[in-house]
Amino acid sequence: MSTAVSPKTSSVEIGTEDRPLRVAVIGSGPAGVYAADILTKSQEVSDGLKVSIDLFDRYPAPYGLIRYGVAPDHPRIKGIVNALHKVLDRGDIRFFGNVDYGTDLSLADLQEHYDAVIFATGAIKDADLNIPGIELDGSYGGADFVSWYDGHPDVPREWPLEAKEIAVLGNGNVALDVARVLSKHADDLLVTEIPENVYAGLKKSPVTDVHVFGRRGPAQVKFTPLELRELSHSKDVDIVLYPEDFEFDEASDEAIRTNNQVKTMVNTLTNWLVEQEDKPLTASRRLHLHFLHNPVEVTGADGRVTGITFERTELNGTGNARGTGELVDYPVQAVYRSIGYFGSALDDVEFDHQRGVVVNDGGRVLDAAGTHVPGVYSTGWIKRGPVGLIGHTKGDALETITHLLTDRTGLPAAARPEAAAIVELLDSRGVEHTSWEGWIELDAHEKALGEAWTAENDGGPVRERVKVVPRAEMVDVSRGAAAVV
Ligand code: NAP
Repeated sequence: MSTAVSPKTSSVEIGTEDRPLRVAVIGSGPAGVYAADILTKSQEVSDGLKVSIDLFDRYPAPYGLIRYGVAPDHPRIKGIVNALHKVLDRGDIRFFGNVDYGTDLSLADLQEHYDAVIFATGAIKDADLNIPGIELDGSYGGADFVSWYDGHPDVPREWPLEAKEIAVLGNGNVALDVARVLSKHADDLLVTEIPENVYAGLKKSPVTDVHVFGRRGPAQVKFTPLELRELSHSKDVDIVLYPEDFEFDEASDEAIRTNNQVKTMVNTLTNWLVEQEDKPLTASRRLHLHFLHNPVEVTGADGRVTGITFERTELNGTGNARGTGELVDYPVQAVYRSIGYFGSALDDVEFDHQRGVVVNDGGRVLDAAGTHVPGVYSTGWIKRGPVGLIGHTKGDALETITHLLTDRTGLPAAARPEAAAIVELLDSRGVEHTSWEGWIELDAHEKALGEAWTAENDGGPVRERVKVVPRAEMVDVSRGAAAVV
């Protein structure tokens, strides 16, 4: 049975072998790949609807957050790459890297070439923290630091790691990543895919104490149990906790009773607190976990961070915190805020500047009047905000694709749907787009760099990959392979 349809705006039958439904997905992180995969495996496609999907990314390599957001010492999560690779390697989804929406392609360009566009651009910026002194030298966004240690092509190669004492603000998994990477010895990261400049930078770090501050209590942390426990696996790093921070209100008790994750994490933290009583601190570096500290000011001298002031908080019975009026100072030379990510606005798409998401209803992108812009959709963090683990993005993609397929009889038909037309457009604009074959080439090149490093450093750790960082080098290696046609 064929479900090919005739959109209202076209007399051509769309969804057939000759004229497939053309869909552009912007962003090749998990959100974009899941959306493309779910569409290709939909019931409608099994029933005969023909779709043709092009996946765009502003970076020369695919995988978005997995390549540029997951900590290098999290190979388990990096393993998701294997699943994404399988999807893109099937050959039914074309990949175009190094193509920036807003610069290289506009919404009008996409609408001319595709019947539907799905934005899956994620969230890569740090949420703002509006306290005095946040602009001082030595005050950083955690997400920027993540981009640096993950070898993001568009951030500076050097990161100033000069502080002995560091404050990390926030009690989410990103704060844990940032604190763990800052406190770990660089040599213990050598088995990972960190680029050379990152290893060299971390190797010189004089850090002795990393302090992580949450504004609520131990039962309100947003960590996950595995990631929390992992802190204790860093070599030569002692974890330090403070008994006065262990406060639990009725809401905490309820959460511990009803939520296994909370119970496990409170147990882990409490056990560490008890164990440290009989265990002298022997490591050369310490990772301190503080609770009930609300940041009020980053203090400095000569434009540089010299400390941070917190107001101590107490729980109010509902799991939320209120200020006690008591101020405490910590001498630190660097502050990293990891209080959440924030999405970036997209040209020609209505944006909610409060929430950092594209204005949408279940993935249908809306205009200023609240009406669905025909054929335009969103999925992932740019749709619902930067919360949830990678797997949660699948449900999101399913909702968006379900809506797209429901709407498909009314989609505005693209004027230039031929697969070659978008390549011609990009080439005519001099865009050095990379392809899936190019990624295979770059992937092999990075693995070869890892092998060469391992051979040169006989007896040292085995490095599976060394990431290529400069964009031009990534593009050169990728474009040595067959270009997309
Ligand atoms: P998050 O989980 O939302 O945590 C943000 C933290 O910042 C919370 O502790 C929050 O405290 C705190 N915060 C917010 N505003 C603050 C302020 N003004 N002052 C002080 N503290 C403030 O965000 P995230 O850490 O960026 O993580 C984003 C998502 O990615 C999460 O779902 C996370 O689990 C996931 N992720 C997973 C991994 C992994 O390894 N599995 C790694 C990285 C990220 P309140 O709770 O009091 O608001």
